[in-house]
Amino acid sequence: LFVMKFGGSSVGDTERMQRVAKRVAEKQDEGHKCVVVVSAMGDTTDDLIDQAKLLNNKLPARELDMLMTTGEQISIAMLSMAIQQLGREAVSYTGWQAGFVTEPVHGKARITDINPEKVLRSLDEGKIVIVAGFQGITADGEITTLGRGGSDTTAVALAAAIKADACEIYTDVDGVYSTDPRIVKVARKLKEISYDEMLELAHLGTAVLHPRAVEYAKHSKVPLVVRSSFNYNEGTVVKEEAALEQGVVVSGIAYDKNVARISILGVEDIPGVLAGMFGALAQAQIDVDIIVQSGISNGKADFSCTVALDDRERAIEVINGMKLVLPYREVTFEENLVKVSIVGAGMVSHPGVAAQMFDVISKQGVNIKMVSTSEIKVSCVIEGNKLNEVIQALHTAYNLD
Ligand code: ADP
Ligand code: ASP
Ligand code: MG
Repeated sequence: LFVMKFGGSSVGDTERMQRVAKRVAEKQDEGHKCVVVVSAMGDTTDDLIDQAKLLNNKLPARELDMLMTTGEQISIAMLSMAIQQLGREAVSYTGWQAGFVTEPVHGKARITDINPEKVLRSLDEGKIVIVAGFQGITADGEITTLGRGGSDTTAVALAAAIKADACEIYTDVDGVYSTDPRIVKVARKLKEISYDEMLELAHLGTAVLHPRAVEYAKHSKVPLVVRSSFNYNEGTVVKEEAALEQGVVVSGIAYDKNVARISILGVEDIPGVLAGMFGALAQAQIDVDIIVQSGISNGKADFSCTVALDDRERAIEVINGMKLVLPYREVTFEENLVKVSIVGAGMVSHPGVAAQMFDVISKQGVNIKMVSTSEIKVSCVIEGNKLNEVIQALHTAYNLD
């Protein structure tokens, strides 16, 4: 039993849809039962959002979910038709028909339960089952989405729920690379990578896998493979323990352009300030990433933090709303930034990895604005205009070329 997931570019047009149908039929011919999870065709999701913005400049979250989920619904029907054209039995199911229950949050809901009875019944009847990615339903019957790129999560969560032998993520690259192959031409395909490293890379902006998909794989131990839908090359296996190559301390480099820096200046330096500010942001469902407190002078402190670009205006509003309770001088924000990160399990035993990163970035003439580290990663927030040069230089410096 296999779960195969095909992303937007893999089902970008009807010809590609036919290619996917053949690929699934081949899997069935090898003697496997198949569940296929699909994304919306090509840039459909982005296009729908752009159209909606012409009608409403602050998009209502519930209606946006209602709109975005139509993209995947088109894909499942089309793919089922293409597969049936090949003389196979197939049936398409929306997220809710496939049993995906989520928390009552729009835009980035977590899956709370999966009831795959319909899927299992159809498989028993010998059908190829096609499931819409990225969508679910609340206990209350409201339609939700799992966050951009969330079809990966649908696939891995379903694979875990139906105890599939493996979950294969088919995409437009041959696997997980040492960094985005669109930026570094000589990026290397990794044969394997550990769940922990992949989780960091995904959280730090590597689009090839949705972070929650990796979380599901890690917890359920479902074998996860990333490979190309356009060729038969061996992909990348994401697993518990990946072999560390001799002398390799950095496995991959990630970047995230979706960052804004918010600075809160001249804050009264009293206990509870951080709790108050960041508690209010959390209450507003705003994820705060890096937090830095810089110098204190005359009893006043300066803080800065990063939030997603889309959240920056709301974050400023929330902080403005706190001014009476927690007095400060001013709040500012900065855009055109990017977070560049190096990730590697080998880092733990190699001091100096961060220092080397700072050195490489400074040699590109780029200022580092913020830093954050963990046992297996170092992230730097830098100005966005020299991103490609920085990533290229880091790729060379850490022997990844
Ligand atoms: P899909 O539509 O199949 O879900 P995505 O666009 O979400 O595909 O993810 C695949 C893309 O991820 C690739 O085209 C590639 O540009 C990008 N990417 C970024 N970093 C990496 C990496 N380290 N390895 C592979 N792909 C990467
Ligand atoms: N179609 C959704 C998106 O573009 C989900 C996905 O592709 O995984 O984000
Ligand atoms: Mg994706």
